[in-house]
Amino acid sequence: MAFAQVGAMVQLKNMALFKSQGLIGGEWTDAHDGRTLAVNNPATGEIIANVPFMGKVDAQKAIAAASVAFQPWSKRTAFDRCKLLRKWFDLLLENKEDLAKLMVLENGKPLAEAIGEVHYGAGFVEYYAEEGKRVYGDIIPSPFPTKRMLVMKQAVGVVGAITPWNFPLAMITRKVAPALAAGCTIVVKPAELTPLTALAAAELALQAGIPSGVMNVVMGDAIEIGAALMESNEVRKITFTGSTHVGKILMAAAAKTVKKISLELGGNAPLIIFNDADIEIAVKGALHGKFRNTGQTCVCVNRILVQDGIYDEFAAAFTKAVQELQVGNGLEAGVTQGPLINEASLEKVDKHVQDAVSKGAKVLVGGKRHSLGRTFYEPTVLCNATDDMLIFREEVFGPVAPLMRFHTDEEAIKMANDTEFGLAAYAYTENIEHGWRVAEALDYGMVGLNETLISTEVAPFGGTKQSGLGREGSNYGIDEYLELKYLCLGNIKQPFMC
Ligand code: NAP
Repeated sequence: MAFAQVGAMVQLKNMALFKSQGLIGGEWTDAHDGRTLAVNNPATGEIIANVPFMGKVDAQKAIAAASVAFQPWSKRTAFDRCKLLRKWFDLLLENKEDLAKLMVLENGKPLAEAIGEVHYGAGFVEYYAEEGKRVYGDIIPSPFPTKRMLVMKQAVGVVGAITPWNFPLAMITRKVAPALAAGCTIVVKPAELTPLTALAAAELALQAGIPSGVMNVVMGDAIEIGAALMESNEVRKITFTGSTHVGKILMAAAAKTVKKISLELGGNAPLIIFNDADIEIAVKGALHGKFRNTGQTCVCVNRILVQDGIYDEFAAAFTKAVQELQVGNGLEAGVTQGPLINEASLEKVDKHVQDAVSKGAKVLVGGKRHSLGRTFYEPTVLCNATDDMLIFREEVFGPVAPLMRFHTDEEAIKMANDTEFGLAAYAYTENIEHGWRVAEALDYGMVGLNETLISTEVAPFGGTKQSGLGREGSNYGIDEYLELKYLCLGNIKQPFMC
């Protein structure tokens, strides 16, 4: 399909944000060999844009551009860099409706959620525009009278960032903002399914005055681009969000050049609802924690463990709430559940449901493809789920909530921790002492107590076990982009004795 026809279905207030080329050294660029990649609307299947299908050569050009930009950018004062980040934040918010619309078109999420993501994603830019000014070092009390010891923090160098499709803006800003604030330059590879939001955000970074080469965007052949980033000696840090499978490949590849690496990987979040929970609050929490982004977040509730005493009451109230969800195209008013990202995801969700039903689970609502067809699945609640089902072990990444029964606290903690993942876990109880002990026992990087919406730029996001390494957001997040340098001053004369 010709570009004019393809682009015609994207109507933005500011059409300058509709970019269909990569960004290398401040220049909008096609793939070196002219190959292109179609971007589809998951709700309709229509092609909304053709973007370059870039490979190793393009990635190497982007790395070279980021290397050239590194010295001047890292030598600026933090105040100077942070002023530009603050301008970028302002532009992201000024253009929030266009960014949100692009996100709905390429990802399918409901418009209200997309607007929420612009605020969330921009929040990292505002936060690190301030935090960059607080990269303090240390003075260490010296054990030697003639030596003084200091620690300074310096930008790690060129960063490679690889991001997934489920949060097309926020997964990028939560890497780019701390990297740039620290003085690093960056090559971003967004997911092939959702490059348009990344390109629009990069255009706004240019408009904010962030210099050419500081932020570059390449998309296309993930294996070739990944290899170029991993093999380069100039790239000193890799930050990745995506599946545990790909995270392990990157971690192994990082060994070749001994790169710093941080990984935000998959989860298998339990939500434990105890007899002493407020059921109304727990139903709301389960609904948001499970069905946000049509169940396609790494911190989405994957297993709902409910104590025997309230199991039936919770199951009835939760099923009623799920029946009220509105499925449809994310641009339509009132829609709360969009499509899944593609047909492969739909197949996986259906496979989990079929597997659970074949092993004894009962469908309370949903349980099948939606009448809208294509990538739409009915919001589903299953009861009588057990630990031999696929859904207990693997991320379903879709709108399916399995309920499992437990009797004692010990049993619940054991079930919750019985996974190789350790990203987010949630528990509902009205007893703070009970909640505190449960939070301490959960082997996860993040715990929500009477809350399932826990992500924010001010708190450290990340997992234990096979859910990853490192943290994003908060004052801890910028450390991922900094190296420590120890400075020893020798031959200091005796102190003045006056
Ligand atoms: P994915 O398949 O791992 O893809 C993520 C990114 O990696 C995409 O940009 C992809 O490129 C790229 N990629 C794929 N293979 C690669 C390779 N061999 N070398 C270099 N890059 C490669 O994951 P996804 O399906 O997009 O995302 C879903 C997963 O992400 C879920 O497991 C979810 O839990 C996890 N996730 C984690 C977090 C977190 O913060 N912990 C947040 C969101 C999502 P292409 O798109 O071009 O193939």
